[in-house]
Amino acid sequence: MTNLLEVQQASKRFGDFIALNDVSIKVPKGSIFGLLGPNGAGKTTLIRIINQITLPDTGSVFLDGEPLQPHHIKDIGYLPEERGLYKSMKVGEQALYLAQLKGLSKKDAKERLKYWFDKFDISHWWDKKIQELSKGMAQKVQFIVTVLHRPKLLIFDEPFSGFDPINANVIKDEILQLRDEGATVIFSTHRMESVEELCDHIALINKSNKILEGKVTDIKKEYKSNTFEVGLLSENILELQKTLSDKFVTEPADFKTIEDQLKLKISLDTNTTSNDLLKYLSEKGQVVRFNEVIPSVNEIFIKTITENE
Ligand code: ADP
Ligand code: MG
Repeated sequence: MTNLLEVQQASKRFGDFIALNDVSIKVPKGSIFGLLGPNGAGKTTLIRIINQITLPDTGSVFLDGEPLQPHHIKDIGYLPEERGLYKSMKVGEQALYLAQLKGLSKKDAKERLKYWFDKFDISHWWDKKIQELSKGMAQKVQFIVTVLHRPKLLIFDEPFSGFDPINANVIKDEILQLRDEGATVIFSTHRMESVEELCDHIALINKSNKILEGKVTDIKKEYKSNTFEVGLLSENILELQKTLSDKFVTEPADFKTIEDQLKLKISLDTNTTSNDLLKYLSEKGQVVRFNEVIPSVNEIFIKTITENE
């Protein structure tokens, strides 16, 4: 798989403070790449470097194999964390102006804006002033302006902050669709909702350092621990629980059922397979649930950050 974007060993200081320490990332073409990390980790600094707003002290960035140059700006659609539109300008007028700055003709800009304003059901905002819009409404307009010129790389810095859950969902679906139409997407977030559904690749940044990067499925494979969640029907649940906890490493599992059953998470050593466990359990009771425990991105995020404290 080729990478659309590569950052190689980027570092950035502000005075004595190291905001980014030797950070490298590889963003595969056609991926949705989540740049995750707590507040202050360095995500926006890295995004500003990719957008040529900030120069790194050391390190380099490549877009489509070429060292980053000013002409690449037109290949990137960037939604900054600090959203800024001219408050006293009218929505339509401003959207047209910004679209033309990105190289679209007035005619194309109008057509595409009409498409997006209809899609988001906001055509009646066209003649409103930005200052009449709520934060979330203005953010929708800015999202449209970011994607309008169909750049090959889209970078959204905290795209969901400022949105209610319904509009966050609208934006999430649009991001998936833009990816399906061929764009590569990088987005940053300090909150883990939506990450699971959106990202196929992630990088985790903590305290200016990248501490984890890769394909989500590979990372999950690495972090899973041969643990299974089981539900068992038995005449004597307490006795079965004791038998199992004597033989395996167990902890209570928490899932909803309509009848009483023994609910456990069972961790196996590396020599024991799921089939071994299933065979054993089926001799002891009736197995009504059996699934492998796969860590969520949120659990991986918390675990990795705690280990790096
Ligand atoms: P994130 O986006 O992950 O929340 P940032 O990249 O915005 O983090 O910031 C990382 C750190 O760098 C923060 O401690 C922030 O205060 C500092 N920082 C960012 N930009 C500047 C700047 N222009 N001058 C001084 N410090 C900065
Ligand atoms: Mg930020």
